[in-house]
Amino acid sequence: MALIEQEPRTEPLVTTTMRAAVVHSFTEPLSIDIKPIPVPGRGEVLVHIETCGLCHTDIHAAHGDWPVKPEPPFTPGHEGVGIVTAVGADVTEVELGDRVALPWLGYACGSCEYCVSGWETLCPNQQMMGYTMDGGMAEYAKAFAKYVVKVPYGITAAEASPLTCAGVTTYKAVKVGGTRSSDLVAVFGIGGLGHLAVQYAAIAGGRVIAVDLNDEKLELARELGAEFTINAAKQDVVAEIQKLGGANQAISTAVSPKAFEQAYGSLRRRGTLVFVGLPKDNYIQLPIFETVLQGITVVGSIVGTRLDLREVFELHAAGKTRVIFEERPLAEVNEAIADVDAGRIPARIVLRA
Ligand SMILES: [Zn+2]
Ligand SMILES: [Zn+2]
Repeated sequence: MALIEQEPRTEPLVTTTMRAAVVHSFTEPLSIDIKPIPVPGRGEVLVHIETCGLCHTDIHAAHGDWPVKPEPPFTPGHEGVGIVTAVGADVTEVELGDRVALPWLGYACGSCEYCVSGWETLCPNQQMMGYTMDGGMAEYAKAFAKYVVKVPYGITAAEASPLTCAGVTTYKAVKVGGTRSSDLVAVFGIGGLGHLAVQYAAIAGGRVIAVDLNDEKLELARELGAEFTINAAKQDVVAEIQKLGGANQAISTAVSPKAFEQAYGSLRRRGTLVFVGLPKDNYIQLPIFETVLQGITVVGSIVGTRLDLREVFELHAAGKTRVIFEERPLAEVNEAIADVDAGRIPARIVLRA
């Protein structure tokens, strides 16, 4: 088989400044600033960003919604994809001209018990792209070469962007949930994450139940492989899923705590509830009695490792998944946030730098 190399970018950098979306305050819209292009240090690369997806996490970061807040000013974005245009000293992982993804896990120590046991995403010394490091919503971003993931030839930047967080996060959630063939898998919330969760659950052999409040999104879920759909605004979700026998796994990508409680209620005995979405309201009520007597597992799943992301890209390159997105210019980031908040988008917005 012939290897097809990507066209390397060889032109020198002629400018020293770039546009970047910047959060200056949790209560103000983002501004598009002119900033110096960062210079990669040892082990780092400079990436000329083509596209960056807009994830709910970016919106929570920009609003300072979570218990651990980022420190303004910062540039959000953890679905940045672009071309390596400069490399620092000692970089061996990637080369000039490689198309790479800059995921949430921007850096991990590589030697703690989590890093060495395949759980780098839990490294206590990690840096998060677009949260503790400047992210991909800019024309250029700096990243640690060990923590970028090469995008295979044939996948466009715009498709790779949503896979870099929404894809790997739901792919990992299906792995963590332990879906096996013929398992009934309920996916709560068919947005940026959920539309991919449906596909990974089906790839794992699950029979998928899609739950959302919007009929169009349920229709999309059906096109993407869901066997059953339930509109939670019109139907009793828990009763409907229990009629089917109860879910072996329920994956909650929704942004309301109520959906998490419904996901719990939809499980069968020995079922597993996977928490994925991160609602602003941090708590739900779970019954101890039923959890014990029915042998229920509740587990949190945060993004995925570099290996998980490689697998996600491989599946996409092999034509196994579809990414639903709408492209907007980076300058329209605030309008994009308003549209995501209002649920006016199909699944994902991808910002073109
Ligand atoms: Zn994300
Ligand atoms: Zn570590």
